[in-house]
Amino acid sequence: MTFRKDARPVILTGDRTTGPLHLGHFVGSLRNRVALQHSHRQYLLLADAQALTDNAHDPGKVRRNVLEVALDYLAVGIDPGVTTICLQSALPALAELTMLYLNFVTVARLERNPTIKEEIQARGFGRDIPAGFICYPAAQAADITAFRATIVPVGEDQAPLIEQTNEIVRRINRQAGRDILAEARALIPEMGRLPGVDGKAKMSKSQGNAIPLSASDAEIAEAVNRMYTDPDHLRVSDPGRVEGNVVFTYLDAFDEDRDALNELKAHYRRGGLGDMTLKQRLASILREIVGPIRERRAALARDPDHVLDIIRTGTLAGRERTKVTLEEISTALGLFSLDGQANGFRARSALGLGMSPPTLGGEGGA
Ligand code: ATP
Ligand code: MG
Repeated sequence: MTFRKDARPVILTGDRTTGPLHLGHFVGSLRNRVALQHSHRQYLLLADAQALTDNAHDPGKVRRNVLEVALDYLAVGIDPGVTTICLQSALPALAELTMLYLNFVTVARLERNPTIKEEIQARGFGRDIPAGFICYPAAQAADITAFRATIVPVGEDQAPLIEQTNEIVRRINRQAGRDILAEARALIPEMGRLPGVDGKAKMSKSQGNAIPLSASDAEIAEAVNRMYTDPDHLRVSDPGRVEGNVVFTYLDAFDEDRDALNELKAHYRRGGLGDMTLKQRLASILREIVGPIRERRAALARDPDHVLDIIRTGTLAGRERTKVTLEEISTALGLFSLDGQANGFRARSALGLGMSPPTLGGEGGA
């Protein structure tokens, strides 16, 4: 039997473990991941370390949602037989690479990142921005490159982060004197980002405006009823606006019967089509999408040990892969290495780090 190197392009993407995933993730990224997992070598990160950058006050939330996000992955059809699911905080090479990359990006550039600016605004940080938060684009560059990913299926809000990753890649390559890292491409769905049910620009776990993939039929109906339509469409007979109408934005994202949808739009513009009819159609489409996901999720949730095993196995594989990349980059940059080849062992003994661990603290104390 001959072993062939896996020539499939590598995908890396992930989700902050700040809450169960929602319909924004479904249209923004999950659908692509399920479709691509066989033709690509796919790694998914449960991004708990990144989640902590704006949730340090609530580590319990970040921890609890590791399992929730993993359940969502499996429920939408991510197959752990072909996709590797890793826990970000358990991959030390990512943290080491982040430290390295932070030297290849300026504070001004981090502050200028449009995604970061928008998120700082949405989180109301004012001037009290956690340093870990403003630096997370460098961490994301570490995530992508550590897996040697070239394709990153993400929502449109993430495009500036991939751009920043590629800037870091070019700097590292320039410093190394050769193309040690490949640039990555964001795979962004055409529809753009899904707005929140409150009409805000983005459905987001942290904004309380999401329909989770585990929503019950009643929750779906309630969320759809809350959606804005056209504020000037007061009577059924009035002509209505389709553009900026949240219900139509959702129908654009989820209604597969394009002819029927175009007909509905024309009817709404003419007048004579009530908001309730529209909302009922949307609720029924969403129920059909979410229903099976919710049922698979509930079945999987009955055996959390099985899910934890999947995460553990994936993380061990991810640990190996990211460690190798870290070593390759450190070597290419000509950094000192304690382990590795012969000169490394000499260095270790020269530093007296051989047998007994150095004593920390001592009697003086702090
Ligand atoms: P948080 O509010 O904690 O940042 P989030 O809802 O923004 O959570 P993330 O984990 O930050 O979710 O995003 C994971 C992926 O899902 C990213 O690729 C992001 O672009 C995509 N995504 C999130 N929300 C949407 C949305 N409303 N529409 C399209 N894609 C989205
Ligand atoms: Mg986000």
